[in-house]
Amino acid sequence: MNFYVMTLFPEMIEQGMNTSITGRAIAKGLLSLKTVNIRDYSVTGNGRIDDYPYGGGAGMVMQAEPIYRAYEDLKARIQGNSDAQVCPRVIYLTPQGRVFHQNMAQEFAKEENLIFLCGHYEGVDERVIESIVTDQVSIGDYVLTGGELPAMVMMDAISRMVPGVLSNAESGQSESFSDHLLEYPQYSRPEVWRDRPVPPVLLSGHHGKVDRWHREQSLLRTLQNRPELLKEADLDKTDIAFLESLSK
Ligand code: SAM
Repeated sequence: MNFYVMTLFPEMIEQGMNTSITGRAIAKGLLSLKTVNIRDYSVTGNGRIDDYPYGGGAGMVMQAEPIYRAYEDLKARIQGNSDAQVCPRVIYLTPQGRVFHQNMAQEFAKEENLIFLCGHYEGVDERVIESIVTDQVSIGDYVLTGGELPAMVMMDAISRMVPGVLSNAESGQSESFSDHLLEYPQYSRPEVWRDRPVPPVLLSGHHGKVDRWHREQSLLRTLQNRPELLKEADLDKTDIAFLESLSK
């Protein structure tokens, strides 16, 4: 999985992504990360890449041409490294896009190459979005100063689906959202912490009971925090009976 990020702040992306689990995966060669500084493609030659919006309004707009040149350069590099004339997906991070979720992360994880375009200021000239962008993605209904954090959020979630990135392959599968349920609560040593004991069933050594307790806690947590997810969840008769018992 190769990530390419077009940004005005490459150091932000590099520092974030080269840390912890993603950093380890990059060092192992399971992921690669290349940042492209859009400023290097300034058409004025002085590093300027933004201008006033036509029609007036607050703030500045990132111009189309520097982004387009950065993209063309990147595409040529990606195609140069590949046998096929691949045309990688280009994701523009924007509060106006489809809201990112776990299924999208799974879908993007199937790609070999992904290009992210991070906006700043008031955003990006619409014409370059129309020309090069295949997907517009938001990370939630709020407005951030730039697309760098959203790109890192997406790359982090996608990376976890890439085989070998997580040390225990299972841990990516049973987590929150993997089956439209939130994960059950987790406990570690000591058995009693500040008068709070670990639920006894987890110490019982009885796998069947532990599995059932995990399932019920997932159902309970989802009902309490994200009840709308239950509509999509694959529930069996026992699950339904458990949920009904809660409402009595
Ligand atoms: N004027 C734009 C609007 O109202 O839709 C917002 C621009 S925002 C201040 C600057 C940049 O931050 C955007 O171009 C985008 O790349 C990024 N951004 C801000 N909020 C985001 C979000 N919720 N999800 C993804 N990207 C976001």
